Amino acid sequence: GSNDTADEAVRSTCDDATVCKRVSCSLPMLTLPVPNFPLCQLMSVQAINGVVLLIGYYARVKAVNILLDAFIKKTSCNCQIINLGAGLDTTFWRLQDQNLLPKKYFEVDFPMIVMRKIHLIKTKPPLSKPIIETNSNSSLLIDGSNMDSDRYAIIGQDLRDLPALMERLKKFGLDTNLPTLLLAECVLVYITPEKSTELIKWASTTFHTTMFINYEQVNMTDRFGQVMIENLQRRQCHLAGVDICQTLDTQKNRFLLNGWDHANAMDMMTVYNSLPQADIQRYV
Ligand code: SAM
Repeated sequence: GSNDTADEAVRSTCDDATVCKRVSCSLPMLTLPVPNFPLCQLMSVQAINGVVLLIGYYARVKAVNILLDAFIKKTSCNCQIINLGAGLDTTFWRLQDQNLLPKKYFEVDFPMIVMRKIHLIKTKPPLSKPIIETNSNSSLLIDGSNMDSDRYAIIGQDLRDLPALMERLKKFGLDTNLPTLLLAECVLVYITPEKSTELIKWASTTFHTTMFINYEQVNMTDRFGQVMIENLQRRQCHLAGVDICQTLDTQKNRFLLNGWDHANAMDMMTVYNSLPQADIQRYV
C-alpha cells in the first residue's frame, strides 16, 4: 500500500546518512568534487573553489560524540543509550573501542533496516568480534529482526508504536532506573508531529533520569533546505514531521511542552564555532 511505499522511502535515508558520515569521519573536513557527492553537497554549508566542505556533517558527528561521551563519563558508564532510528550508525563500535560502553546500548529501526544491519554484522568479523567479546555467551542471540548481547541490542520496531517499543526494550533488558540517553539523529522529521510528540512525552515520563539529543533540520526556507526538500520529494520521501518554518524556539518548546524540565537548541553554525578550535583550524 501507499504506507509501505512511504516507509520504504524513509528507510532509504539511512544510506544517505551512512555515506555522509563515512566521508566526514574518515577525514574530519573533507573536500570533495561537487558532482560526485550530491547528497553530501546538500548537507554542506560552504562551497569554495568547486569543492564542498562537509561542515554540517563534521559538526554533527563531532557534537553528538561530545554529548554522548560527556553523558557516559558523568555516569561512569553506569547508564543506557537508546539510539532511535539508528540506521547503520556505528557508534557502538566507537564506544567499545574507546572504552566508553554504557551498561547497554540499544538501537531501534524498522525491521527491514535492522535485518540488513544484523546481516552485515554476522558476515563481517570486525563488526561481530567486538560484540562477541563483550558478551558472556560466545554466540549472539539473533531472532528475525532483533539481535541481543550483553551490551548491545538492535531492535526491529516501528517507533510509532510505543507500547510495542516499550515491550521490546524491556524484553532486551531496559532498566528505567538507570540514567538514560535517547538519541534521534534525523529521525523525528520522518514521523508525524502527533507521533513524535508521543515519543517525546513517553521519553520524559518513562525514565528516572534522562536526556534527549535531537538533531534535525530547522528553517528549511533557505537555499539548502529547499534543495534537500526537493531531493527527498523526488524520491517520494515524505518529511511528515517538518514544518519548514520551524525555529530553534519551536524545537525547544516541543520538549518543554511535553514533560521536559529543560531544553536547549543550537544551530549548526553555532555548534561548529563552539567545537574545539584546534580541530577546526587544522582543516579550514
Ligand atoms: N540516525 C541514523 C544516522 O544518523 O546515521 C540514521 C538516520 S536516517 C536519515 C533515518 C532513519 O530513521 C532510517 O534508518 C529510518 O529507517 C529510521 N526511521 C524513520 N522512521 C522510523 C520509524 N517510524 N520507526 C523506526 N525507524 C524509523
